[in-house]
Amino acid sequence: MMQWHSNPILYTAGVLAGVIGLILAVGWSIATRSESTASQPAASGANKPARAGEVRGVWSSYQVTPDWDTAMQKLSQANFNAVFPYVCSPGVAYYTSKVLPVSRFAQDHDYLAEAVAAGGKWGIGVHARVLALELLFATDATKAEMAEAGRLMLNTSGTTLPWLCPTDERNRRLLKQVVTELVTNYGIEGLQFDYLRYPWRDCCFCARCREQFAADTGAPIDNWPEDVADEGALAQQFNVWRQQQLTGLLGELVAAARTARPDIIISAAVLPHWQVHAENFGQCAQAWVERGLLDFVCPMNYTADRLDFATWLLGQRKAVADRVPLIVGIGPFSDACQFSGPEQLVEQIQIGRAFGAGGFIVFNYNEQFAEQYLPYLAEETTAQPARPVWGGLSPESPSLSRTNAPD
Ligand SMILES: [Zn+2]
Repeated sequence: MMQWHSNPILYTAGVLAGVIGLILAVGWSIATRSESTASQPAASGANKPARAGEVRGVWSSYQVTPDWDTAMQKLSQANFNAVFPYVCSPGVAYYTSKVLPVSRFAQDHDYLAEAVAAGGKWGIGVHARVLALELLFATDATKAEMAEAGRLMLNTSGTTLPWLCPTDERNRRLLKQVVTELVTNYGIEGLQFDYLRYPWRDCCFCARCREQFAADTGAPIDNWPEDVADEGALAQQFNVWRQQQLTGLLGELVAAARTARPDIIISAAVLPHWQVHAENFGQCAQAWVERGLLDFVCPMNYTADRLDFATWLLGQRKAVADRVPLIVGIGPFSDACQFSGPEQLVEQIQIGRAFGAGGFIVFNYNEQFAEQYLPYLAEETTAQPARPVWGGLSPESPSLSRTNAPD
């Protein structure tokens, strides 16, 4: 570990220096861009060139407008190379699943098969995104069934939440079956985990978690959940244990996926503030990277503020320490922020390149993105093709291969 990182004053100074340099670089880049013409491209060095193996991705719904073939063609024309459609939550699938209820919208369509076929035609890799623990888009009947079976999380006041409790063996088995059928039945390039977290600090306090926590830690519990909830004597221990539950679950899912398909590329979409979010949501992205569970990591740095974006990215780069590529998530159409136009996206892509990201993923594919943003990007920012070097070495970026063996 570099010593200056551990000194808060030096670290802050480093961040500030980096950010000031960044503002100058990006400002110049944008200024030269507006002056450039087709016959006189922007001054070399003004725009940070793309890495050879840059990942250029977009998150999307299970389907896109008007259809996957058209969307993949447009992405291909703008030299994008990856799509991350959500394909299921633990309560509903938009592909032909044998273990999850299939959505009524997907009875006549296997949206994932359509995406993979179109991606193959247009040279775009499909990374199936699994919403791991929240029962998003599940029917009320499915949620009630899971609640009845005691498989969901309980909060402090004993309310059942529409989230799978990760300590339930039935839930872990279900998720392993899901990833196994996905990597076995579809020609997907990768698998991405999303919503692999707790909804907040105040869960899970089910009887099974109590028993497991006691067995794992040997901690004396007099009052449950008061002892482990915020302000409780065992709160910190419980918080760490929660993180271990999710890291352990991810380890099991990754092992299942890699056993079925050793070449599968595994990533996770994670919250941006790793230390704070590990405590609040149990999502310890740094541990996931350090244990070699991910081939790349995608923090969702959704902000319209370039300084925030850069500062978050810098912190994440420090945490990753080049173990795996960091593919930065940018959110022009996210809940957290809306961009004024494609120039803002270009700016954050440039910041990502300047700060050593291995690529970017944009949230979210929609008509405006296809019609307004993609052609704009293709003019300069993604004018040259890029092909991620899965499992190989790119001279400028850390390898997209697995450099760490799982524990
Ligand atoms: Zn539980």
